[in-house]
Amino acid sequence: MTQYVYYFGDGVADGDATMKSLLGGKGANLAEMVRIGLPVPAGFTLTTEVCTYYYANNRTFPPELKQQVLDALHRVEKVMGAEFGSATNPLLFSCRSGARESMPGMMDTVLNIGLNDTTVVALAKQTGNERSAWDSYRRFVQMYGDVVLELKPKDKTEGDPFEVALEHKREHEGVTEDSALSVKALKELVAEFKQLIKSRAGKDFPTDPMEQVWGAIGAVFGSWMNDRAMVYRRTYGIPHEWGTAANVQAMVFGNLGDDCATGVGLTRDCALGTPGFCGDYLINAQGEDVVAGIRTPKRIEETLASDMPEAYAQLNEIGKKLEKHYKEVQDIEFTIQRRKVYMLQTRNAKRTGFAAVRIAVDLVNEGLISETEALQKRRIPADDLAQLLQPIFDPAAKNVATKEGRFLAKGINAGPGAASGIICLFADEAEKFHEKNPNIDIVLVRKETSPEDLRGMKAAKGILTATGGASSHAALVSRQMGKACIVGCSALEVDYTNSTVKVAGKTLKAGDFISMDGFTGEVFEGKVQTKPSEVIQVLVQKSLKPEESETYRRYSQLMGWVDKYRKLRVRTNADTPGQADEAVAFGAEGIGLCRTEHMFFDHLDEIRHMIVAETKETREEALAKLLPFQRADFAGLFRSMNGRPVTIRLLDPPLHEFLSDRHLEEQPDLAEKLASWTNSTVDAVKRRVGELHEANPMLGHRGCRLGIVYPEITAMQARAIFEAAVLVKKEGINVVPEVMVPLAGFVTEFKHQEKIIRATAESVFSQTGVTLEYLVGTMIEVPRAAIRADQIAKAAEFFSFGTNDLTQTTLAISRDDYGPFIGFYRENDIIGNDPFQTIDQEGVGDIMRIGVDRGRSSRPDLKIGICGEHGGDPSSVMFCHDIGLNYVSCSPRRVPVARLAAAQQALAAGK
Ligand code: PEP
Ligand code: MG
Repeated sequence: MTQYVYYFGDGVADGDATMKSLLGGKGANLAEMVRIGLPVPAGFTLTTEVCTYYYANNRTFPPELKQQVLDALHRVEKVMGAEFGSATNPLLFSCRSGARESMPGMMDTVLNIGLNDTTVVALAKQTGNERSAWDSYRRFVQMYGDVVLELKPKDKTEGDPFEVALEHKREHEGVTEDSALSVKALKELVAEFKQLIKSRAGKDFPTDPMEQVWGAIGAVFGSWMNDRAMVYRRTYGIPHEWGTAANVQAMVFGNLGDDCATGVGLTRDCALGTPGFCGDYLINAQGEDVVAGIRTPKRIEETLASDMPEAYAQLNEIGKKLEKHYKEVQDIEFTIQRRKVYMLQTRNAKRTGFAAVRIAVDLVNEGLISETEALQKRRIPADDLAQLLQPIFDPAAKNVATKEGRFLAKGINAGPGAASGIICLFADEAEKFHEKNPNIDIVLVRKETSPEDLRGMKAAKGILTATGGASSHAALVSRQMGKACIVGCSALEVDYTNSTVKVAGKTLKAGDFISMDGFTGEVFEGKVQTKPSEVIQVLVQKSLKPEESETYRRYSQLMGWVDKYRKLRVRTNADTPGQADEAVAFGAEGIGLCRTEHMFFDHLDEIRHMIVAETKETREEALAKLLPFQRADFAGLFRSMNGRPVTIRLLDPPLHEFLSDRHLEEQPDLAEKLASWTNSTVDAVKRRVGELHEANPMLGHRGCRLGIVYPEITAMQARAIFEAAVLVKKEGINVVPEVMVPLAGFVTEFKHQEKIIRATAESVFSQTGVTLEYLVGTMIEVPRAAIRADQIAKAAEFFSFGTNDLTQTTLAISRDDYGPFIGFYRENDIIGNDPFQTIDQEGVGDIMRIGVDRGRSSRPDLKIGICGEHGGDPSSVMFCHDIGLNYVSCSPRRVPVARLAAAQQALAAGK
């Protein structure tokens, strides 16, 4: 018989930490904590297989589950010395979700299961605390009503109906905190909540504890497929098939009095990575108060030692034991019941890219982990490294803003980074606005955020909330997204009805600019100038010395390890010396793609002259004008790269990108100018522009087809490359040009271009008396090239996969026009990723594999790289490692990310 239920408690557990896929992270770690002797209330885990069954069988449970739950429940009763539903000695349960990977706040939880009008009286007697018993009952009805019976606000302007009733009650009693409500008020609330549920959700609140527990279990499994959980999984690549586990656990109480508390903690700070136990706690409260961000909690590191010295000491001990055991920073949930700490959860803590780097490097320096462990993907997701390059506010600009009276308030600095943007109060509006205006930054300002706001948070540059602590939902999620985030900024009065934010005596409206510093928690009115991160200041601007920046020093120590283990080389896509310099500072080992057409954008007159030319002679005249510009550009690149290889691709785009009807319309004198340069007429120019028009330009006259039809273009570009190379070599700088032919599919295309390139090289060498090594290779960006790579590799000395075009030509999806349906495709799980961002490994990837294998079958040492945008995407980089490429090439700022991803895959593959 399948074991669907795993017990834990009283020193024994059926499961352990290795069983995350079956028990979920929470269940596996509860079992593990029991095993290492930490105080954990007894309970049991319903496995992820139950969830799979539930969805495969029309939301029903396996028949044998009922008995297994009952057996486990009785076992917990025995250990806890209390009975579920007893009228004299009742045991209460919580029911929490817990997937293989944590999905903070995305799924549901129900606490205090087992309370009804009878058990509440018994609980009051048993704990000697009538108030807390009724407080628990009030919470239970509220949570059950929300989560299981689905009583939600009608629309976005209505507050949560339960919270509205609570607020009325507080006002009525003249108190500000829930914990100050009288027993009478709590009893009234329980009755009012039940009535609300009956009238608005049309359901009776169940009094039978067994019915309650099954309702809660169903809701927890049901929440696996709610919208926010699905969005979250799509964002973080968690498969829908995994399912969640459900954990049913005996309740301990944080709300029995002032010697009780509830809290969440981190064994080190996870915003910046600073060592030391930290977190949030609330005295006389239950868990959801902290996480929901409804009350602003106290900080463990500031006041717990004086508030509850015994509990503080226990927590510190537990924290150390956990870090030693898991070799990783832990994010824990705990309850203090009558001065004793109980553990409800531990998991590896989510962290910002900043914190991830600091923690990994510190743990190595503290001797807890090795260099290779520090580089693990789960410790530093390669994408997160980009956060270290994020802009910060210029301190001078912040001073000016303060002097101008624009400082508004200070909250909790929960996610580093600086953001200036327009105020948006609703997540769905933020999402829509961002779709229409991707270039205008948004700051999402809310009283608090809830998981429903996920989509809007993704669209925002920064997230600012009036309530909540550093572990509230807003903080956790934005930190993980790498957004600047400030929470608990209690000076903000957010008015959803009038779309205003009142703060510091001012009233800001939605649409006004606001700026927030996620490093310090400061909020300013209007825009504040940002400036580059410390790593950029050290590496690129050289305005900060390495010894002045701890952030840089850790980055550099980490990147040292990265380079020790990675096998893939990392180059950059750069067209200017400035970009090349920046990329070299980030560790680029060469240029993998210089798109020569980008250089033409500064010389539009000359290129248009070339395009309009109807004869070889007039075209050569124009090319002669272009030659010196190209030569100077190439020489600049060679100098910047100082001996590193430079791959220069010949002209690629369809010519109408430089000259089309649109250009003629926008510049009325252009046709006349071109006619005079080419000794022709305005009509002839217009006719030529008409000829250039293409219905399907990406499949038209572009790539090497240009250089084949107009060989003089290739000859000019090759001359510019070799003359520049000779020039720079004479300056004493080593030069390694690699000339690359775009979009070839037939070996004959390649050979045609190769012949011109080599002849030009010879001509330049004999004219100057200087020779140098060079390579002639090709892009592989149409499927035919990959399939006939054996033929092409006999002639081509290197390959570079142009996965932008290869994706476009393999999938028959235009890279320029896929916007309107890709969102729909992703939301409906037709495809898992945007194939233009992450290589479609099964399709495009397989064609790449063929290209690699067949290419090397005729030239075993063939150097192969990738220069499509995928070269900076971690999972694509890892794929490139797996198929044996020599290098990836990406935009300058992605270079560190690609280096880290390459090291991670080398280590993972080497195991
Ligand atoms: C490619 O197609 O992947 C490529 C790098 O070339 P481009 O993006 O310039 O077409
Ligand atoms: Mg291309």
